[in-house]
Amino acid sequence: AQDALIRSQKMEAMGRLVAGVAHDFNNILAAVLSGLSLIGRRLDDPEALKLVDMSTNAAMRGTGLVKQLLAFARQQRLDPERIDVSAFLKELEPLLGVSAGSGISVAIEDDGACGAIIADAAQLQSALLNLVINARDAMPDGGAVRIVARAVRAPGDEALPELAEGDYAAISVIDNGTGMAPETLARVAEPFFTTKQVGKGTGLGVPMVHGFTHQSGGGLRIESELGKGTAMTLFLPRATGADAHAGADADAGADADA
Ligand code: ADP
Repeated sequence: AQDALIRSQKMEAMGRLVAGVAHDFNNILAAVLSGLSLIGRRLDDPEALKLVDMSTNAAMRGTGLVKQLLAFARQQRLDPERIDVSAFLKELEPLLGVSAGSGISVAIEDDGACGAIIADAAQLQSALLNLVINARDAMPDGGAVRIVARAVRAPGDEALPELAEGDYAAISVIDNGTGMAPETLARVAEPFFTTKQVGKGTGLGVPMVHGFTHQSGGGLRIESELGKGTAMTLFLPRATGADAHAGADADAGADADA
């Protein structure tokens, strides 16, 4: 327990530091981007314009990374709403397919049993995208990603042992890629742990997904076997009758936005 406390204090201190640096860095990148855009307008040399474009793209990638850092450091406040799991997955399917890229198929296997969950829809989307992108990266020669949605009850064989008693939607992202060696598997949820090339991986994907499921009252199960593939399963509490009713308004609001 002492260890866990020290670890969480360390994480908090690191989070504050990262948030501070990321914030300043974001302002710097914004200045660079606006400078580049002003320079671009004064150039008529196409080669020079190309260089400005390249630099702009690099700075934008930096902005994206900073956003991810900030989101992680803040452990973003969640904005839970009622989500119909089947409808949500169906709507997200094309985007997941595009993110997986060519040579990789994405198939959703959903028996419709999950019903509704109460969770932050934007974070759920970004969690699933993160997992699909990791799956893609683990299959350089192509392959198949399966997204399987099931309803499970905790405690039970199918659920994580740490889950509180109750009903959960279990959404798995399963790939038949490289899988992970035990040393990698042990560290995969550690912030900034990555085996990817500099500039390609941040090491924040899995920690973010892990944080999101825990903040939502659920959990993340990670299973992987070297040479076989990986399965990451999000457990998210299913909406009870009362939740489902309260969530109906939030749902209407979300529709009005769309
Ligand atoms: P990043 O993707 O930026 O490296 P993550 O936190 O998402 O950060 O993942 C950390 C590491 O875990 C990856 O670098 C990779 O080694 C490993 N990993 C994650 N997902 C998978 C997967 N589906 N298959 C194989 N390895 C994975």
